[in-house]
Amino acid sequence: MREIYLDYNASAPLDARVLQEMLPVMSDAVGNASSVHRFGRRQAALVDEAREHVAALVGGHPAGVVFTSGATEANNLVLQGIVAATDDGGAVRLLVSAVEHASVIRTAQRLAACGLAKSDVIAVTSGGFVEPARVEELLGSDVLLVSVMAANSETGVLNPLAEIAERVHAAGALFHCDATQMAGRLPFDMSESGADLVSLSGHKICGPAGVGALVATRQSLKRLEALLHGGGHERGLRSGSLNVAGIVGLGAAAQIAAQEREQEAVTVAALRDRLVSGLQANLAGVHQNGDLSRRLPNTANLCFEGADAEAVMSNMDSVAVSIGSACSSGSIEPSAVLLAMGLSSEAAFESVRFSLGRFTTPEDVATATQAAISAVERVRALTA
Ligand code: PMP
Repeated sequence: MREIYLDYNASAPLDARVLQEMLPVMSDAVGNASSVHRFGRRQAALVDEAREHVAALVGGHPAGVVFTSGATEANNLVLQGIVAATDDGGAVRLLVSAVEHASVIRTAQRLAACGLAKSDVIAVTSGGFVEPARVEELLGSDVLLVSVMAANSETGVLNPLAEIAERVHAAGALFHCDATQMAGRLPFDMSESGADLVSLSGHKICGPAGVGALVATRQSLKRLEALLHGGGHERGLRSGSLNVAGIVGLGAAAQIAAQEREQEAVTVAALRDRLVSGLQANLAGVHQNGDLSRRLPNTANLCFEGADAEAVMSNMDSVAVSIGSACSSGSIEPSAVLLAMGLSSEAAFESVRFSLGRFTTPEDVATATQAAISAVERVRALTA
């Protein structure tokens, strides 16, 4: 059976146009981007060009871009970096939403466990978004930073960023926004959203994996201490010789996304909606998790009542979708995001994420719909 990839939120396929930009860098380019000879200067010029594309994707300034190994590192740099730069014996507080990526939640927990900062979790609504009033209740003069993602990876639900940022700034804190899932899919602008620090990742925007960026205002960059110390690359915030090919790929992916995301959103949303309506027309007891009025165009998180999601997934093996999260022992944990939205663990265990993207075709959707219908019917019949 033909394989179909509907797991773009985990990692999107590399765009062939991005690969074309990367290949000559990998095959021909020589030199360290920090070297002053002409080989090095050519590498540095490629990095500078990519920096402009990455900044432009989120309405930032090229001087505010710090290239990292991905969004995990960018998130760590923000949370650990701001705490490290504030030496006040652990009195400061961080606020992070309940549905953040593990690289935000676990970093905040770790800082708290080490006594370096306190950390509070901002609850989300049953629709999966953060209400600005909840942030306001938790704010205080001891809050250093608030971290709320632009779009959730599991539900696609979008947060009211500008309203949150307004309250965060009024309390004198910095606003960090993990825009990893949104930046390539919908217009995102740092000034409009009020974000001081934005995390991004290459492989979520049809670029390479293992490269990402923090894009920040110049003022907020000054508030960070580096995680990695060494040669002082990236204005001292991320030492280590630059991954020029990866950075060129990230830049190309950002440039394409900036040009195409609005049109792509329309096409992809139509395919996503066709998938959902095909499933709901053929199966009873299928509902969508998350607020449908504020969602990424490519994501649908569906609960198939009475059908265990892991069993559904293994009965539609040729279609890549996603469920919960695999823990270290290999068993599946219910999604913390869905639980934070108030779903029962039973409903969370019955939920499957479908995430589409640039290369999804109507044929993919038709085949995936049939595969999912058969899988759910089979699982329901076995457990009835
Ligand atoms: N933040 C979000 C919202 C994500 O979805 C992911 C990837 N699943 C990350 C951060 C981590 O990104 P990376 O793989 O680049 O470390």
